[in-house]
Formats: sequence, structure tokens, C-alpha cells
Amino acid sequence: MDTLTHWIDGRPVASKSDRSGEVFNPATGDVQKRVPYATLGEIDAAIDSAAKASESWKHASLATRARILFAFRELVNKHKDDLARMLTLEHGKVFSDAQGEVQRGLEVIEFACGLQHLLKGEISENVSTDVDSYSLRQPVGVVAGITPFNFPAMVPMWMYPVAIACGNTFVLKPSERDPSVTNFCAELLAQAGLPEGVLNIVHGDKVAVDRILEHPSVGAVSFVGSTPIARYIYETGTKNGKRVQALGGAKNHMVVLPDADMELAADAAVGAGYGSAGERCMAISVLVCVGNAADKLLPKIRERIAVLKVGNGLEPDSQMGPLITRQHLDKVTGYVNQGEKEGAKVLVDGRTLKVPGHERGFFLGPCLLDEVTPSMTVYREEIFGPVLSVVRVDTYEQAIRLIQEHPYGNGTAIFTNDGGAARKFQHEIQVGMVGINVPIPVPMSYYSFGGWKQSLFGDLHIYGPDGIKFYTRNKVVIGRWPDPRFRGVDLGFPQNR
Ligand code: NAD
Repeated sequence: MDTLTHWIDGRPVASKSDRSGEVFNPATGDVQKRVPYATLGEIDAAIDSAAKASESWKHASLATRARILFAFRELVNKHKDDLARMLTLEHGKVFSDAQGEVQRGLEVIEFACGLQHLLKGEISENVSTDVDSYSLRQPVGVVAGITPFNFPAMVPMWMYPVAIACGNTFVLKPSERDPSVTNFCAELLAQAGLPEGVLNIVHGDKVAVDRILEHPSVGAVSFVGSTPIARYIYETGTKNGKRVQALGGAKNHMVVLPDADMELAADAAVGAGYGSAGERCMAISVLVCVGNAADKLLPKIRERIAVLKVGNGLEPDSQMGPLITRQHLDKVTGYVNQGEKEGAKVLVDGRTLKVPGHERGFFLGPCLLDEVTPSMTVYREEIFGPVLSVVRVDTYEQAIRLIQEHPYGNGTAIFTNDGGAARKFQHEIQVGMVGINVPIPVPMSYYSFGGWKQSLFGDLHIYGPDGIKFYTRNKVVIGRWPDPRFRGVDLGFPQNR
């Protein structure tokens, strides 16, 4: 069986670790590879390689950096389907969804290709007589990324293209569940001409993460994953003096008002609830139906679920694939059991689903729970599976209050034809990303992505303009050419004249 290599100093490096994990094909339940859990020495080697490369990469001209990123963009575009296939094999999401993931990652690379404009500073002439002042954005140095299983290509692409464009070198610790695609991307970047050591990949677990968080050469850490780990990364990284952005979990609510286009709302709820088997941080997991909306909407949702094809993501007619691991399948099933025990009505029960020929795969069919209340476990906690919970409320204000009081604030959506209601929603809601008749409002690469409350720890969102800020430090210069008129000792605080 293949064991994955790390990628250090521009080449694959076999691990000497005696610890490793299994990488499954979630559709068949078979182990297809082993992933090493890096030793401390291997992590240090990756960080040292990045630190060494930083000495020259920070001086690389903007033209050089842009050319490499443009070449990388071409290679990712050329290998889009190869990348998508790798994603489906290890993550389980259906092939078309995997293609969409690569496409959204590609858009961040395209954003980073504009680095010459993005890294411009500001200048003010004559801030004082014959004195000019200007600002520069300089790289942080060595930056690390720690990423989750659910978007193994796209989420790392939220980070390293932007960080590298800004003149940083990068150490990536991808998810140990579906790690292969990141190695392939490192190969593509090398083909694109990236100097060795600018991007390094170490596979591993908490041991690798903890070393990154304490290593003195690492200046900044970008993390995406679950909320408890995001909080830990933020607290530990900042305690060690690092700049940290840590994006966490979610519980995204979709409000449906009685005047909404119910066909559109049903399409959206099914797509956003069950796409990628609900394993998206922007998945809709709670439907808040106002007034009589539920009575109109739920039959339409059930019709759509009845014809959904769940199966191996590589089969062309599959619309929803398996969950990532058996352990996660058991966890999600446990939530449905718990919901039923606490009084939710199971309108559609995916627990009984069997996928012929894939009996050992980690499949769970779509589940629809009605009459969910805010005190239930299925409402309070992130499930991260194909489970939609329906909460019925009488008024718009009650719907808003539910969202404001929920500890997560990643994404949310409202479905209505009432412009005033939509305007009030976008203005008042305490959530980072808002959709109006759009169920998954993932910002374009030239905006920035991030939630509020316990969905993000740190000050800046990821990629887009915030990404440029996160991966650079601001420097302000005040300069004057020597002029005899200004001779003479002056102990006063400098004043502008
Ligand atoms: P996870 O938190 O279990 O793992 C994320 C990363 O942290 C992995 O690289 C993992 O190896 C590492 N890790 C896990 N446990 C650790 C520990 N105890 N100490 C140090 N490091 C540890 O998340 P996951 O299960 O891979 O991904 C799913 C989660 O990610 C969901 O909660 C989802 O909402 C969230 N997510 C959020 C966003 C966002 O943008 N807000 C995007 C994608 C996923």
C-alpha cells in the first residue's frame, strides 16, 4: 500500500515516522493509502526549508512572482479534472461538485495573479515642507496553513497562492483524511517554476500542528476547521506571538418567509442542505420557516429528496456521495437518533439507505427533521452531514432572534420577495456572509471569506483584500532629501510645517 510523502525543499520526502493514518475511499470503505504523521524533526525540516527560502523569495520581483502564479493557474486549469478525481476518491463528494471546488480555488489563484496591483502602497507628497511619506506592504516571512478535510484543494488555495504572492514562504499541514491532492498541487507549483522551499507540505496530526504553533520561525498561521480546534489554534498561536486567523464551524440558517418563491426555496434548501453530503461549512443546516411557509415548502422539499441519487461520486448520475469516514457517519447518525429522542419528527429518514454494490461505503441518505426547537442538540450543535432541521416560527422577528442568539455566525440566507424584509435582514443580521435568495453566499475571490462570532477567531477574513492584509506587514516611511535649511539641533517633538 502506498504511503504518502511529505513535500519539503521542492521534492517528495519519505517520512521516517512510526505513526501514520489510513486514507479511505469513502464510497467503498476501503483503505487506499497511508498518510504519515510527521515527526518533530520532519516538521522542523519543512519550517527550516521555508525560512531559508524566505531569504530570497521576499526579494523576488513582483514580475517573477506573478509569472509563476500565472503558470500555476494554467497548470491547475489543465489538470482540473485530475484534481477533481483525486478529491472524489478521497473525500467522496461527487465529481461535478469536486470540479466546482477546484474552480473556486482557481479563482483565488487568479486573484493572486493580480499581486502587482494588490501590493501597491500609498504615498503622500509634502506631508511637511519637502517631506514625503509612503507605506509599503512587506511579507510576514514564514506562514503556516492548517486545513480541514471538506475542501482539500480549495481551502489550501484560499491561503498559499495569496501568501506566496505577498512574498511569504509557506508550510501547509493538510487534513490527514484526504491529503493527496495537496501533494499534486505542490508538484504543479514546482513545474510552474516556484523555487524550492517556498511551499512545503507536512502531513500529520496534533503533533505537527502544535510544533507549528510554537516554532519561533513561523510568523503567521491560517487555520480552517472546527470551532474547538479554531479556538485552540487562535489562543495558542497568539500566546506564542503569531498572527492568527482561525475559521471555525457553522450552523447556517435559511429563513423562508411566506411570500418566497417556494419552488426556488425548495431547490435551494435541497442543494445547500445535501450537496457534498452536508459537509460544507456554508451548508444550510437549519430551515427557519415563518408563518405558513413550512406547509408550502416541505412537500416540495420531500418531492426533491425522493428523486435524489445517492451513490459513488465517480458515477455520473450520483448527486450526493458518502460521508468522509465510518466514525463521522456514526456521529451524524447519532445526531439524528438524538433529535428523534428529543422530540423532532423524522420526515425523511436517510438512516435506512443502502447503496447497492457499496455496502461498506460510508453512506447516509438525506434526513429531514421537522418540529425542531432551539433547545434540541440537533439545533445547537454543528452536525456536518446531510441533515436539515426545520424550525417553525410565527414571525420574522422570531426568525431573526434565533440567528442572533446562535453562537455560530458563518453564513445565512433569506428567501423572500419582500425587498424591505431582505434589506432589514442584510443590515441587522450578526453573520459574516449573507445570501438574499442565494443559499450558499461564498464571497468571490476579490472579496474576503469569513464568519462572525464563534465561526472565526481573529480580526481578518481569508483571501481577497483581507488576505493581502493578513499576509503582509505595513511599513510607513517618512523621507526628506538633505537640505541645509533644516540644519540645527531641535529636541522638540517633530512638527509638520
Ligand atoms: P478539524 O477541526 O477536525 O480539523 C482541521 C485541522 O485541524 C486538520 O488539519 C486536523 O489535522 C487539525 N486538528 C484536528 N484536531 C486537532 C487537535 N486536537 N489539535 C490540533 N490540530 C488538530 O476539522 P475537519 O473535521 O477536518 O473539518 C470540518 C470542520 O471544518 C467543520 O466544523 C466545518 O464547519 C469547518 N470548516 C469551516 C470553514 C470555514 O471557512 N469557516 C471551511 C471549511 C470547514
